[in-house]
Amino acid sequence: MAINSDFLVFKPRKENYTIAKRGRPSDIKIGIMMTIPYRAAVSSLFFQMAYTYLNSLEGVHAYRYVFDIDSKRIEALDTEMSIKKLDAILISLPFELDYVTAAFILHRLGIIHKDKGWSKPLIIAGGLAPTSNPLPLAEIVDFVVIGEAENIIDKIVYSLAEQNPVKMLEDMPCVSATPFSDVKRRCFVEDLDNSYHPLQQFYSPDEEPIYGYGIRVEVSRGCPYLCAFCMESHVLYPFRYRDVSMIEKIVLRGIEFLKIPRAIFYSLSLFSVPGIDHLLGKLISNGIKASIPSIRVEHANSNRLELIKLLGQKTITLAPESLVTSHSCRIGKCYSIDHLIEVLETSYRLGFDHVKLYLITGFPDLNIDDEIQAFKDFMHRLSFIKKRKFIEISMNPLVPKPWTPYQYLPPEHVLKTSKNISIYKSFKSSVADISILDPNWAFAQAVIALGSRETSKLIIEWALHGLGLGGFKKALSSLNQECKRYIRHGWEAPPWYDAVDMGIPVKYLELRARFLRAL
Ligand code: SF4
Repeated sequence: MAINSDFLVFKPRKENYTIAKRGRPSDIKIGIMMTIPYRAAVSSLFFQMAYTYLNSLEGVHAYRYVFDIDSKRIEALDTEMSIKKLDAILISLPFELDYVTAAFILHRLGIIHKDKGWSKPLIIAGGLAPTSNPLPLAEIVDFVVIGEAENIIDKIVYSLAEQNPVKMLEDMPCVSATPFSDVKRRCFVEDLDNSYHPLQQFYSPDEEPIYGYGIRVEVSRGCPYLCAFCMESHVLYPFRYRDVSMIEKIVLRGIEFLKIPRAIFYSLSLFSVPGIDHLLGKLISNGIKASIPSIRVEHANSNRLELIKLLGQKTITLAPESLVTSHSCRIGKCYSIDHLIEVLETSYRLGFDHVKLYLITGFPDLNIDDEIQAFKDFMHRLSFIKKRKFIEISMNPLVPKPWTPYQYLPPEHVLKTSKNISIYKSFKSSVADISILDPNWAFAQAVIALGSRETSKLIIEWALHGLGLGGFKKALSSLNQECKRYIRHGWEAPPWYDAVDMGIPVKYLELRARFLRAL
């Protein structure tokens, strides 16, 4: 398919920092592609890292591409060169629904695997979702990096200058070639302190990044809690963190470079990092602001809430997920409702604008009447709050994901939450605002997350019908028997076991699934 020139536009931004490199025709040319708009893409540490690190390599040029959702166009930030002149494109796909956008983009550019085969540019995907299960990308991309790429990125890039890069990539550890029929073991970085962290980060003063301006700092990877529904913690296992002295160094150097005294911390469990409270106090003394990610309820206390307030954050985000505490403990979220109420009281007293709460509905091991009763009781206890919509509840249906104990549930399980959702929608409260994810989107996510090679056909079909739910429904109607079966009944032997060695014992998943009545 010919390149659609209206679809790919050259749209450089006014940025604090760009890399201008003199090149030779023989240099390796890499595209770094994000399926999200510029202001979201600059918040990705992968995007930041890939741009600065790849351009620091001898004989390598890296060019950035983002996707504007409104105009549905790819924007090249660095070059007007034809995309077909690239040797490879690294495409970041952290979430399952990104696959649909990726299929849409690659199809429009004429470089989707199904049409172009193994010709250049080679499409190399990475991210949490494809690491857990690359199969649904079978007809879309050429390769998937299974796990964390830092230790092999140089090898991947330099292999592109070799005689037979496809063969070289196929033979590399943790690089899996479509149709992903060899089991590849996940790579991970053991020592974060000695791994690359981008300090020279780019942004545009004209487009405020999500989470705001400031140095983005990866504090830790993985999470020690392994909550039953949480794919991140299972796929990023084990929990690793940077030493606080290293975190401080990154913050100070980043601030010196950006000239913005603010840090944005990335961590699945910030308060599991030893010494972090002390570091936050030090930042406050030095006049540095910070953005703190969502925290576990039992990690929140008045000292920490005060620290967070002094760091300039206006909203606290807590993730209790389940309000039935006997159940929340079973899934890995132990806390008490009294403590949660105390945290809300303190947040209210300290003058935070809002508290955001993440909740999940549709756990197979939790009776809906108990769930609703716990919700009502909780809402009843919020009468001390006099500020309208002080609490923002984000309610999501449980989405079963690979390499978690809920992976045996069929995607159709998600649709059962429609009833729960309509009950929640009928709640009226002046104190809390409830936003609820449409179960159809959650269902689509589960269909892809738990998919097989056949699912890549569904994704492409969906992309051809546009990126909305209407396209998904049309694509669903053309499913073959294999897809229909797993969507209705789930997998007994998940097919991703034959593509990825995650290092997680299958027995653990089975036993925990039985305990949770999900198998
Ligand atoms: S605390 Fe959060 S990040 Fe950690 S395992 Fe639980 S849900 Fe996942």
